Amino acid sequence: VNYGGPILDNHFHVQRTGRFLEAVRSFQAAGGTHITLIPIPGQTAKRTKAEWRQFFLEHLQMSDEVEEKTGVGVIRCLGPYPIEFQRMAAAEGVAPAAQAFRTGYDAAYELLADGAALVMGEVGRPHFEVPAAIMETANELLEYGLSLAKDAGVPAILHTEHATPSVYADLARLADRAGLARQRVIKHYSGAFVTAEETSGLVPSIIASKSNLQAAISKGDRFLMETDYIDDLARPDVVLPPHQVPKRTQALAAQGVSHESLRRIHQDLPSTLYGLQIEEPGRTKP
Ligand SMILES: [Zn+2]
Repeated sequence: VNYGGPILDNHFHVQRTGRFLEAVRSFQAAGGTHITLIPIPGQTAKRTKAEWRQFFLEHLQMSDEVEEKTGVGVIRCLGPYPIEFQRMAAAEGVAPAAQAFRTGYDAAYELLADGAALVMGEVGRPHFEVPAAIMETANELLEYGLSLAKDAGVPAILHTEHATPSVYADLARLADRAGLARQRVIKHYSGAFVTAEETSGLVPSIIASKSNLQAAISKGDRFLMETDYIDDLARPDVVLPPHQVPKRTQALAAQGVSHESLRRIHQDLPSTLYGLQIEEPGRTKP
């Protein structure tokens, strides 16, 4: 029996130079109802609060446009992307990059505290080897950002190195230091880690490959699903194609996963996290 409830892709990007609305429509045609739309970092470095604010406002405007033109519910998300810090630190030095990034977090905080978006993200630290000074500062900046998420009353979506239970534990300690509740911290690009023990109480957003989802659902339904679709015409269907989450969700239903479990993944957990009732068709403007 087909699952008929809401379907959320919790990590989705669009670009005006990519398939843009057509990618969202492909998600919708497969049965998708909601996306968490993550900013694509710009090519130009942002330093002042006005520059960051402008960047975030453009993303929010794009979020409005996607929702209005497709009817897919968009969960609004904004924050400074950690690889921008790494690039700027490598090019100009850690101190000016850290300064620019703190300003980025401050600009994000103002909009989040105003209710212009529901979640801070994607924020975190480089997912590859970097000099120790860069990683150390990236961690300090992340702790600062998570403390601002707490103050703004929003959850945060983390971009970090590949998660293992020990990485989860490390991120949980960082969230604790920042004062942000662990169940408000979402680990993007997660493998099949589901239980509160293996995720240290953080929320896994699992890459929706067939094998990941099979492994995940055998352990429980305490997770979100995502494609991390990046909407780059030069790399089509990276990381996973836009229709993947609804397609895999229906495959799980077909193999006997209960609709109750699927509702927990796509409706109950994200409704609690983001503080809105996810219904169909989705309207999510705060
Ligand atoms: Zn992403």
